[in-house]
Amino acid sequence: MTIQPALQLRDFIRNIPDFPKQGINFKDISPLLANGEAFSECTSELSVHMPDNIDAIVGIESRGFLFGAALAQLTGVGFVPIRKPGKLPAETHSIEYDLEYGTDTLEIHRDALSQGHRVVVVDDLLATGGTAAATIQLIEQLGAEVVACLFVIELDFLNGRVKLGSTPVLSLLHYND
Ligand code: AMP
Repeated sequence: MTIQPALQLRDFIRNIPDFPKQGINFKDISPLLANGEAFSECTSELSVHMPDNIDAIVGIESRGFLFGAALAQLTGVGFVPIRKPGKLPAETHSIEYDLEYGTDTLEIHRDALSQGHRVVVVDDLLATGGTAAATIQLIEQLGAEVVACLFVIELDFLNGRVKLGSTPVLSLLHYND
């Protein structure tokens, strides 16, 4: 028998229809962050899925920083940020990837990861998978290995995990809208 926690994370995700544009059902995590018990429960549930012997948790700007850093603190693993262009001060490695319209770029410090490092990627939400797929490529180009991707929310109808290939993906909450 699985014991369900008294607190349900789903109750702390707010749907904002048509934000930031018509047709997008935005999943707002602000209520979850604002509630100490819910934020802590979320971090603890993510930690259950942390593989052993991880060298770094990589968080994707910007909401991935919140959950990634909290998970890093709880598990005693170091945290590495992946940022939008022009934000990281030291030498960077970057990747450009396709969006629905146009392209976007992500950057990581070149010395943040080394050959053979075992990495876990964290973000708030998996939608089309474009951001996470580019993140995996970026990490692999530095010679590190992405052992797992952890998300708080996954939009199942967008099939984003297909873009992540054979990388194990775990999401705490699944939505179909
Ligand atoms: P994608 O590259 O399509 O998987 O998009 C993932 C990124 O976009 C995540 O970092 C999310 O923060 C953000 N995102 C995409 N769709 C939504 C949504 N419906 N609600 C909230 N955030 C979203």
